[in-house]
Amino acid sequence: MSKHNQDIQRKLLAWYNKTKRDLPWRNTKDPYSIWVSEVMLQQTQVKTVIPYYERWIKTLPTIDKLANAPEQKILKLWEGLGYYSRAKNLKKSAKIIYKEMNGKLPNTVKNLQNLPGIGRYTAGAISSIAFGLKAPVLDGNVKRVLSRLFCINKNGTTSAYENCLWEKAENLLPVRRPGDFNQALMELGATVCIPGSPICQQCPLRTICKAFLKNKVNEFPPSNKIKSSKKIEVSAGIIIKNKKVYIQQRLKNGLMGGLWEFPGGKREQGESSEECLKREIKEELRVNVVNLNKVMTIKHTYTQFRVTLTVFNCKIQKQQIRPGGCEQWKWVSLSNLKKYPFPAANVKIVKYLTEK
Ligand code: SF4
Repeated sequence: MSKHNQDIQRKLLAWYNKTKRDLPWRNTKDPYSIWVSEVMLQQTQVKTVIPYYERWIKTLPTIDKLANAPEQKILKLWEGLGYYSRAKNLKKSAKIIYKEMNGKLPNTVKNLQNLPGIGRYTAGAISSIAFGLKAPVLDGNVKRVLSRLFCINKNGTTSAYENCLWEKAENLLPVRRPGDFNQALMELGATVCIPGSPICQQCPLRTICKAFLKNKVNEFPPSNKIKSSKKIEVSAGIIIKNKKVYIQQRLKNGLMGGLWEFPGGKREQGESSEECLKREIKEELRVNVVNLNKVMTIKHTYTQFRVTLTVFNCKIQKQQIRPGGCEQWKWVSLSNLKKYPFPAANVKIVKYLTEK
């Protein structure tokens, strides 16, 4: 190993010993807990994950508890965290581990990657942190740090750039404490070597960081085109009958599948929010709306799109509803509404109804 790499290991681990944040998943070596934390941390900030992680581990403390838990319970625990396929894959993998692997999570990257929802990054994190094996990780934070540390730019294809970073991450790993080293790299990216303007004056690697020494920090990592997220306008209706509110479950195989929602849908071109809701209720419940009252507008940003949700109190004709296009539907008392998992924007309607 080169002296440069040895210096990086030594300085980074010493810094991590002194400054690492006290996070709940850092107080355990339990592979299951580390797996859950790593899946939750994908695309999600640490401070958002902490309460979700604590609630999950308290409710489902072992792989067999997860394997045998109903999907609705899992979706409720995940409610608001987004990318629900992560929760469904945790459950699918737990079932496989429970039935075919004696309830023990495999330790190697190769075997971990055979499980649903576990890619190279998550496999590397579990293998190094829980089992102490020399397996690299490469998430957004690590990519940024390595790109600056070695002045790696995107000369060529994206996959050539990624391969180069994986190779660097692997070559840098120490035999002792590979899990701590991986966490130190991620920690540095999250707290010091941040996007935009890194705080180089506080960085333990500034005397050996190539981008810093060449005064080229701003040139790394190579910029990605910022994707402008799609905006959508949606109308939703609160229909109450005999003190119960109507909710329906989204089709299991679609986006946010298995979650519950209030009826409604996307506004079409030229339509007002009211017209949209009348049309959607007619299509979904096969009944006419007789009166609408706007109660609020909710703006919510999902990872894939931004939604503006206009919510109405809605009176329908007295005839029988005949819902279609959903997994199932229910009339639910307000006191029971919070038991069902909803997408984040709908959670705000639940709050309005149950806390007003
Ligand atoms: S010196 Fe600056 S650019 Fe280099 S690794 Fe540290 S924080 Fe990042």
